[in-house]
Amino acid sequence: MRKPIITLFICVTMFLIACGNPMNDTANSANTSETTANMATDTAIEKTYDVKILDNKKDPTCGMPVTAGVSDTAHYKNKVIGFCATECKAEFLKNPEANIAAAELIK
Ligand SMILES: [Zn+2]
Repeated sequence: MRKPIITLFICVTMFLIACGNPMNDTANSANTSETTANMATDTAIEKTYDVKILDNKKDPTCGMPVTAGVSDTAHYKNKVIGFCATECKAEFLKNPEANIAAAELIK
């Protein structure tokens, strides 16, 4: 009775070895395409703000027009203020009252 069990064991082992590599390859290529998809999503989400959502024409800290590119925003008295950089936002928030005029609010 032992021989059939050994034969079956060998058959199962051979089957697993034979199928092992193609299965791994499929898993690897699935991971690769997933990584590519994630990278594409990251690129799409990359910090850009639509100028239409902003209430200012210029970065109040450095005076750069928001149309040149906004990488950060702050809310101030129900207005959305766009900044060219996080540093400009930080500078503005130190004393928003004194700098808000330079933002040239649209509304
Ligand atoms: Zn700036």
